[in-house]
Amino acid sequence: MYDMLDDEAIQKYVKAGRIACTIRKEVEKYIKVGMTLIEIAKHVEQKILEYGGEPAFPTNISVNSIAAHYTPEPDDRAVIMNNSIVKIDIGVHVDGYVADTASTIIFDDRYASLAEAAREALEKAVKVVNKGVKFSEVGNVIDNTIKSYSYKPVYNLSGHSIDRYAIHAGEVIPNFRDRMNFGSFKAGNVYAIEPFASTGVGYVENGDTITIYSLKWNPKKLNRISSDAQTLFNTVYSERRTLPFTPRWYVGRYRLEFLNQTLKLLLSQGLAIGYPVLIEKSRGMVAQYEHTVLINNSGEKIILTDSC
Ligand code: MN
Ligand code: MN
Repeated sequence: MYDMLDDEAIQKYVKAGRIACTIRKEVEKYIKVGMTLIEIAKHVEQKILEYGGEPAFPTNISVNSIAAHYTPEPDDRAVIMNNSIVKIDIGVHVDGYVADTASTIIFDDRYASLAEAAREALEKAVKVVNKGVKFSEVGNVIDNTIKSYSYKPVYNLSGHSIDRYAIHAGEVIPNFRDRMNFGSFKAGNVYAIEPFASTGVGYVENGDTITIYSLKWNPKKLNRISSDAQTLFNTVYSERRTLPFTPRWYVGRYRLEFLNQTLKLLLSQGLAIGYPVLIEKSRGMVAQYEHTVLINNSGEKIILTDSC
């Protein structure tokens, strides 16, 4: 991790944060029952470009028991249903400086307290974040807040440190008081805090579907695959480097069948990583809120995704 953030980096983080915040607020009003997940994702991703950023990852739209890592597929026909709980997770980068933010929209009043538990957990957690504070202390605040609503945090999902072009930069901010986590917040670093609250057992498991991928640079392995597959790899790599992407972004340029086959090949050759959809184990409902927080070199805290 960088130990120092120069002014230019901070300005770009602030810009990414403002864009992410603006779009999160807009989408909370825009999303309606009957809309397709595709049109919502496209809307978000178009707005990111319009406001001068780039998507740091494909827009996650995770419904009900799906906690994270679902972005609409190219031929997705899913629509927003009445009685559902929807998490929208937005990632914006400006020159590699990433802001990551999420919100929950409910289409049934019976999920109001679940959403509120996650929202309040984030609000309180972000207040506690400061240079020198232990990650597990923030986890403790999240855990206690969510339990005060009689729900469970999702124990195996967590916040994370952020670096340039790296959404998950190695450090883990737990959603509970993890006694084995000895990390603490440091000046000159950026962190995403993201409590998840659940009506279920509080654990997610991998689903069968993969809608989000990232590439792994490996020239030796790249030379062993067909030239068609190499072309796709190079196209995606030139645009994304190792940032996440989704096949939906490439359907205009490549046939869907070719895309799916090649992604399977890249996964099997270790040239790509797949991020399976994460589903609550007991099929409980899940709410999520997220902010990105920057601690500058003098130890001052800036919540990047709440000022817009
Ligand atoms: Mn996120
Ligand atoms: Mn995140």
